[in-house]
Amino acid sequence: MSRHVLVVGGGLAGITAALRCADSGYEVTLVETRARLGGAASSFQRGDLDVDTGQHVFLRCYSAYAALLRRLGVLDKVRVQPRFRVPVLEPFRACSVLRRWDLPAPAHLAPALLGHPALTLRQRVNAARTGMRMRELDPEDPALDRISFGDWLRECGESARAVDALWALLSVAALNAAPDESSLALAATVFRTGLLDAADSGDIGVPLRPLAELHDGAAHRELASAGVRVLLRTKANSVLRDESGETGWRVPVRGRGGEEVLRADSVIVAVPHQHAGALLSARLLPAAAAWSGLSAAPIVNVHVRYDRPVLAEPFAAVLGSPVQWLFDRTSAAGVRRGQYLAISLSAAHEYVEQRTGELRALFLPALRDLLPRARRAEVQDFFVTREPRATFAQAPGTRDLRPGADTGLPGLVLAGAWTATGLPDTLEGAVRSGDQAARVVRATFDEARPAGLEVTR
Ligand SMILES: Cc1cc2nc3c(=O)[nH]c(=O)nc-3n(C[C@H](O)[C@H](O)[C@H](O)COP(=O)(O)OP(=O)(O)OC[C@H]3O[C@@H](n4cnc5c(N)ncnc54)[C@H](O)[C@@H]3O)c2cc1C
Repeated sequence: MSRHVLVVGGGLAGITAALRCADSGYEVTLVETRARLGGAASSFQRGDLDVDTGQHVFLRCYSAYAALLRRLGVLDKVRVQPRFRVPVLEPFRACSVLRRWDLPAPAHLAPALLGHPALTLRQRVNAARTGMRMRELDPEDPALDRISFGDWLRECGESARAVDALWALLSVAALNAAPDESSLALAATVFRTGLLDAADSGDIGVPLRPLAELHDGAAHRELASAGVRVLLRTKANSVLRDESGETGWRVPVRGRGGEEVLRADSVIVAVPHQHAGALLSARLLPAAAAWSGLSAAPIVNVHVRYDRPVLAEPFAAVLGSPVQWLFDRTSAAGVRRGQYLAISLSAAHEYVEQRTGELRALFLPALRDLLPRARRAEVQDFFVTREPRATFAQAPGTRDLRPGADTGLPGLVLAGAWTATGLPDTLEGAVRSGDQAARVVRATFDEARPAGLEVTR
C-alpha cells in the first residue's frame, strides 16, 4: 500500500522534500499558497522585465543547491565565477578588487587582505590575525551562538573601520544582519565554510536567468515527471491529527475549488516559521510557541534602468555609500537596450518603510557618485521591491529556537531554511532541510513497516 506524503509550501525546501519523497516511492501532494513555486527565490513580470523578488547569489560550496539545479536541468542557467573576485566601489574613487589567489587556504586570501586599500597596514595585519582566530572557532559550539559577531570582532581588536570595510561588507549580505545583531556561530559558519577552510568554496555564483525560470518552471516539470501532484493557489489552514485513524494527518486547505480536507500519512511543513507557528497549534506542538522568537529581517532591492551601460562589472560591493551591493541584471532580466541595475540592501530596517520617492532621492545621487557614466545617463525606470520578512533575524540566541526536522510526532516533519540546518537562512539551507525532512519521513515509514515488507521504489 502506497504511503501518502503532503508537503505544505513550494519553496526550495518543499520542492526538494517532495522530489525526495517521490523518489522513495511515496504518493506526494504539494500545496502552495501562491500561483508559483520557488517561494522567497522567485520572480515576477513588470512590463517587459523579469524581476527577481530579490537578487540572489550563492557560493561554490552550496553543493545541495547545485544538486537541485542539476536535477531540475538548469545548472547551465547559473554561473559561478572561476575564482572569488569582488570589485569594491567607493564614491569618487577607482574600483579596487578583493580576489583570491591560486594558493591553498587560508593563504589564498592573504594577498587580497594585505592589499586591501581601504585599510591601514596595521588594520590589514590585524584582520589576517582575526581570520586565523576565526579558523579556530567551532560553529557547532553552542556558546558561540550566545555572542554577537560585532562583540567578538571588537575583542579581536578590529577597529570600526575594519569592521565596516571588510567584515561587514561580506557578513551583512550573508546573514542579513549587522555584525552586532549577528550570531557569532552563524558568522563563523559563513566565513569558515565560505572563505577560510577551502580555497574555492567562496567563489560566487549568480543566476543568468530569472529565478522563476530556475525554481518555478523547471521545478514544475521535474515534480510532474516524478509524479508529484502540485496544487497552486492552495493554502493550508492548519495541520491536525486524523482522529479517524485512517491516516496520520488531516490538512484543511482552501484552493481554487473551495475548501477541502487533504489526508496524509505524513505532512512536511515547509513554510516560513511565522506560518508554521500558525499552522500547528501549541497544543499539538508546544515548541512552536517559541518560533516567533526567530523574528524577521528585511531585504530591499532598488531597481534602476539606464539608457546606457554604466557599470562594467557583473556585480560589486560598495563602501562609504548607502548602496551595499550592486548587480547588473540586464541580461538575466532579458533587457536588450541600456542597463538594468539592482541595488541589494540587506538588514534594510531603515529602508523597508521608506517611500519609493524617498529612496529615489537617496539612491540615484549615490549611484552617480559611484559610477561616473551614470552622471550622464538617463534613468528610464526606477522601482523598489521590499521583502520585510526575507529571512529570520540571525541573531545571538537563535540556535536554540530552530527546530530539527523531526518533531517527535510520527509523520509530522518540518523543513525550511529557518529550521536547524546549522546554516544561515539560505538557498543551501532550504535544500538541505528538504533533504533532511525526506530522510525523517523515510525513517518513520521504515520503522512502522512490518518486518519483511519491501518499500516499492
Ligand atoms: C530578497 C531576498 C534575497 C535573498 N538573497 C539570498 C541570497 O543571495 N542567497 C541565499 O542563499 N539566500 C538568499 N535569500 C534567502 C533564501 O531565498 C531563502 O533562504 C530560501 O529561499 C527559503 O526557502 P524555503 O523553502 O525555506 O522557504 P520559502 O522560500 O519562504 O518557501 C515557503 C513557501 O511556503 C508557502 N506557504 C506559506 N504558508 C503556506 C500555507 N499555509 N499553505 C501553503 N503554502 C504556504 C509560501 O508561499 C512559500 O512559497 C534571500 C531571500 C530574500 C527574500
